[in-house]
Amino acid sequence: MDRIDGLAHYRRQFVGTEAGAAADPFVYLDGNSLGRPTLASLGRITEFLRHNWGTRLIRGWDEEWMDLPFRIGDELGRVALGAGPGQVFIGDSTTVLLYKLARAAVDYRRVGSEPARTEIVLDTDNFPTDRYLLEGIAAERGLTLHWIHSDPAGGVSVDQVRAAIGPQTALVLLSHVAYRSGFLADMRRITAAAHSVGALVLWDLSHSVGSVPVELDLCDVDLAVGCSYKYLNGGPGAPAFGYVRRDLQDVLTQPIQGWMGTRDVFTMGPGYHPADGIRRFQSGTPPIVGMLAMQDTIAMIGEAGIEEVRAKSVALTEFAITLVDEWLAPLGVTLTSPRDHAHRGGHVTVNHPAMRQVTTTLWEHDVIPDFRGPEGLRIGLSPLSTSFVETLEGVAAIRDVLRGVLLGQAGLAPGTGIAPGFGQSGAGSGR
Ligand SMILES: *Cc1c(COP(=O)(O)O)cnc(C)c1O
Repeated sequence: MDRIDGLAHYRRQFVGTEAGAAADPFVYLDGNSLGRPTLASLGRITEFLRHNWGTRLIRGWDEEWMDLPFRIGDELGRVALGAGPGQVFIGDSTTVLLYKLARAAVDYRRVGSEPARTEIVLDTDNFPTDRYLLEGIAAERGLTLHWIHSDPAGGVSVDQVRAAIGPQTALVLLSHVAYRSGFLADMRRITAAAHSVGALVLWDLSHSVGSVPVELDLCDVDLAVGCSYKYLNGGPGAPAFGYVRRDLQDVLTQPIQGWMGTRDVFTMGPGYHPADGIRRFQSGTPPIVGMLAMQDTIAMIGEAGIEEVRAKSVALTEFAITLVDEWLAPLGVTLTSPRDHAHRGGHVTVNHPAMRQVTTTLWEHDVIPDFRGPEGLRIGLSPLSTSFVETLEGVAAIRDVLRGVLLGQAGLAPGTGIAPGFGQSGAGSGR
């Protein structure tokens, strides 16, 4: 499968894999939580420090950096988000951007002669930061949270959204791909349902951007935010991106009114006058160094094509599920991700009461999935950097460690049934 994989060569463009697959000491199954660095980023960051920052100094802002958040945003919009120019920007962290856009959305519905909209619709299995933020916004603005009780092994259906919304709904906030189960929500129909009652929709794209094609313009999405350090390999804490549909930009106001979002930044006038267009959603000085690395993955996606990336992602998750059925199900492991790839993003979650212990042992041996309580092990498959052999070795290692745990063996010793190459130097395999 690696041999016929048209994207296989991208794997060698990541740090640690350049000397050949056999030398890569890791089975990395967590690119959906923190992507691997690219070799191109290594060069780009060094070059930036030495030349752009090192020799242009403060002049860099006028020459290049003021526009960088919007240039990267346009390119990301073009290659991965189905968003026309002038609607995407690189901003603050995902958490802060979600706050800014959610507050903008609920405040929009408070103005004018419309009857007051009093509710925010969200789901019980969304990522913690999304839920906590909306708790805070509801308290700040005197709104009520309307909870959809989502299936932890599935996600939020169109019917559940239809049942939850009404003329009282100000905002619906959902994840496009659920961080736990990997469920892929129906963006087009859910957005249309929300619009049919006059509500705005804010999509969290953190677990879909870079592995699942997103069609923000076609789906008529209002607002979106997504993370850049997962499938976009932007690096730990790299800033997030925001999308605001063009016709909403000048009617929304966001709550963190900083100087970088004003009409004329360097006038430094007495009062806040928001810029026209997407710039008003910026607050302070943009984190330029933090947005360097993501550009290399955006370029790879542009070259490979997001549909090809998705096709490999589907093939990887199908393969992982085949192995789970074959090797893990007999040990009592259950699949808690959708079986139908039409409803699945780029990762697969498997449950067993021993998974916390299994994950700890795997990490000690450089096999790196992640654990999400109470008993889920997530197998993240990053289409540009993960190979099929790596996937195979990863699931084999999960099998062997779990088998050891079930047999009451605390540690691991060579020759005790551990998968070939597991924990060692790769043993000549082409991960
Ligand atoms: C990763 C992730 C976040 C992360 O937010 P930060 O502000 O970067 O910590 C938020 N939401 C979802 C759905 C995520 O998957």
